[in-house]
Amino acid sequence: MNTLVKLQKEWYSNGHTKSYEFRKEQLLTMKKMLDTFEEPILKALKFDLGKSEYEAYTSEIAFLKSEINDHLKHLKSWMAPTKVKAPLTHTGSKNYIIKEPYGTTLVIAPWNYPIQLALAPVIGAIAGGNTVIIKPSELTPTVSWVIKRMVEQYFPAHYIAVVEGDKETTQELLDQPLDYVFFTGSVAVGRKVMEQASKRLTPVTLELGGKSPAIVHHDASIDLAAKRIVWGKFTNAGQTCIAPDYLYVHHEIKADLVAAIKKYIHEFYGEESLLNEDYVKIVNRQHFDRLSAYLDEGEILIGGRIDSNKLRVEPTVMDQITWEDSVMQEEIFGPILPILTYDELDEVIERVGKRPKPLALYYFGENEDDQKKITESLSFGGGCINDTLYHILNPHLPFGGVGESGIGSYHGKASFQTFTHEKSITKQTTKFDQNFRYPGSKLGLKVI
Ligand code: NAD
Repeated sequence: MNTLVKLQKEWYSNGHTKSYEFRKEQLLTMKKMLDTFEEPILKALKFDLGKSEYEAYTSEIAFLKSEINDHLKHLKSWMAPTKVKAPLTHTGSKNYIIKEPYGTTLVIAPWNYPIQLALAPVIGAIAGGNTVIIKPSELTPTVSWVIKRMVEQYFPAHYIAVVEGDKETTQELLDQPLDYVFFTGSVAVGRKVMEQASKRLTPVTLELGGKSPAIVHHDASIDLAAKRIVWGKFTNAGQTCIAPDYLYVHHEIKADLVAAIKKYIHEFYGEESLLNEDYVKIVNRQHFDRLSAYLDEGEILIGGRIDSNKLRVEPTVMDQITWEDSVMQEEIFGPILPILTYDELDEVIERVGKRPKPLALYYFGENEDDQKKITESLSFGGGCINDTLYHILNPHLPFGGVGESGIGSYHGKASFQTFTHEKSITKQTTKFDQNFRYPGSKLGLKVI
């Protein structure tokens, strides 16, 4: 690893990654790589996670391609130095910001969208003019293997390399003199990554998780809310960092909402979802057992069945849950949706506000004052009003957490900004000098 980092640093220091033409070429190469490897990627996602072709293509490959297209469209303008104004004291000078690459960067990825989350940060790193080491998740080994093979085929190791392995490998990588670390994963591991990076004061982005609420008020369009919540929650079998973790619903509309949720679960996944080959499995037995244990709590309103051979858990909705139950302590990260009820929005603000700041928050309701009240009173990474997940698909919206749900953001221009240092320059005039700053001088302008 030491040799690899040295190799990348040496190659980087020769300035190969700096030009617009080079970066553009690499983004196009990445697009070509995704086209050539489309079939192995889809097969690997099916093998490791049981993802259907449709889900795998839309949430992983298409996402990356649209991110590359957005970067190709704007890269030149993002790279250009930004001129800034100056105060009177700087008369005669030019002031601007140069977008400087960090150098050699490390991207650490999780398993839930193992292609998208390993490669989306790489798009930003390429655009920013950096070299990259990718560490895919060991929990999706087939995908990790495909990532390694395709990157090796399209990029030289001194520019982009893949290091496969588990936490020990990641820790060894973090011991190297890296210039930037981009981590996506759990809050617990994020803390460790930041601690390790702090030893060298290596800057980090942490894309973490948390318990993201879906709040449904009495004036919500119930049928549409149910449809969008079912899609957001059960896509990838709930193994989505911004999936609605729990439902917080006004007591008056709870019964209607549950009925509509049931209708959409059956419409999207069938009444026998465990037999639906397009329904995603749980990544491994450890996570399957963790999720199955939640099913002993409260009362199951919808679903609740499991298949321990295929590691599948039905889309499940649970009632009679309290804030103290174990399902309300940790991020669920699976297809289980507990329901809690409230009477007043102030209660929602108090309850949610007391918990760690979530990565996402979804509010369903028509009244604009209430929408404003929720989005302005509560702190969370990002979210939607009257929808779920959709904010992540707009490249003009920076994506990231706040507080325990993360540090920093990316997607679109935010990715470029994340992977570049803003270097501020004052270019002073030599035509005249302003002497007021010098010791003993009187205020005024002296022409040389
Ligand atoms: P994880 O934190 O267990 O692992 C992520 C990566 O860190 C893996 O590559 C793993 O090898 C490595 N790792 C594990 N232990 C480590 C250690 N002690 N030191 C250094 N590296 C270590 O996360 P996961 O289980 O792969 O992913 C699920 C979590 O990721 C959920 O909490 C989810 O919310 C979060 N997530 C966040 C986003 C986001 O964009 N904010 C996206 C997807 C997933």
